[in-house]
Amino acid sequence: MTGPTAVESVTASFARMEAVRAGADGLNCVLWSDRERAPLAGYPVAVKDNIATLDLPTTCGSRILEGYVSPYEATVVSRLRAAGSVVLCKTNCDEFAMGSSNENSAYGPVRNPIDPCRVPGGSSGGSAAAVAAGIVRIALGSETGGSVRQPAAFCGVVGVKPTYGRVSRFGLVAFASSLDQVGVLGRTVDDAALGMEVIAGRDPYDSTSADRPVPRYRDAASQPMRGLTIGRPAEYFPPSLDRRVAALCDRALDALRSQGAQVRDISLPHTDLAIPVYYIIAPAEASSNLARFDGVRYGLRVTGDDGLRAMYERTRSRGFGPEVTRRVLLGTYVLSAGYYDAYYKKAQEVRACITEDFRSAFASGIDVIFTPTTPSPAFELGAKSDPYEMYLNDIFTCTGNLAGVPGISVPIGRVDGLPIGGQLITRHFDEAGMFAAAYALERALGDEAHR
Ligand code: GLN
Repeated sequence: MTGPTAVESVTASFARMEAVRAGADGLNCVLWSDRERAPLAGYPVAVKDNIATLDLPTTCGSRILEGYVSPYEATVVSRLRAAGSVVLCKTNCDEFAMGSSNENSAYGPVRNPIDPCRVPGGSSGGSAAAVAAGIVRIALGSETGGSVRQPAAFCGVVGVKPTYGRVSRFGLVAFASSLDQVGVLGRTVDDAALGMEVIAGRDPYDSTSADRPVPRYRDAASQPMRGLTIGRPAEYFPPSLDRRVAALCDRALDALRSQGAQVRDISLPHTDLAIPVYYIIAPAEASSNLARFDGVRYGLRVTGDDGLRAMYERTRSRGFGPEVTRRVLLGTYVLSAGYYDAYYKKAQEVRACITEDFRSAFASGIDVIFTPTTPSPAFELGAKSDPYEMYLNDIFTCTGNLAGVPGISVPIGRVDGLPIGGQLITRHFDEAGMFAAAYALERALGDEAHR
């Protein structure tokens, strides 16, 4: 026998309270209630293991942090708790959030709940799988190049990456600081909107967090699409795109039209440079951020009698897995004297062109951009051994991290029974517009989103 869920029980109590308060018998038993301040009352949530929590380990899926418990908590986690939720678990992820399949975790790969022979995507694969498997309705993930949206797409759930600066990064273990943001995975658009409402906003502990009001994103649920223009960027629909993915995108665009939106073809011309640029900037920043894991202050220390330098080397070679090692080497190389201008500086210049692509699309009257989230559905475990092939998973998402714009992945149908996600992107800090389009798409597709 199963009883009511915690959310049902809290909702029922609030409903009963309102009924009693409104009742003619005037019981007058309640003075003050807390519905508005506790929007997540009764919600268990899952938190990716690169976000600091006080009572559970924070290992980033790495051996180097095995057993590590943070002395402080991430602002996003404190906000979830303050809103009434319970942190149920920490979720598996690619080591230091580097990966697109969750096969880079020191604690073993995660399997996709839709098909356990396949990957859930990454790096927030554990969070996406926990939502898809019905463990929680809301989970936190993190994004540097697509790590919330891509696993959300692979697992058939909703995943949001907010505008850079919308959500505090305090307590998120840094990978590439100019790209990193905490994101939310939810069973529905409404779950994701609720989670984002709770975690967004200025935090004095993160100077890059923006001091802007946070709208009630759930209000976007009733916003009509009439008069809005959706941009369809040619670069995200190349002739090589799987035609079944393209067909589901066409159906999604029709669904948005049925809600009153217009669709216009646009171009984001620097899109093909995003992966090369991302794989200079992200490893460069990672090599610097991960220098702190030296066996002195955190986690693993492999000692010997041959001095400090040897201890650093042994700890790092033993503690980091192959992908993290590859990124640190790559990043150290591109930042080294004599190469900085040719690689990192150049990449930042191209990044500015990618940002300008988005800015000019929005300036030309586009309200929302629609793209596939990924070029293909979830692949089988072990299928992609070539790192470059793996990196191409983020081809449609890392542009958003480079430009800092918000994006959401919403289920739009299935290919061979495997979920496909559609991505909606809006201008900086227009999460409300992004959620409005996501609600409209979800509403118009109905059950077709999962068929
Ligand atoms: N898959 C990308 C990478 O490996 C993005 C990861 C992320 O967004 N954290 O870097």
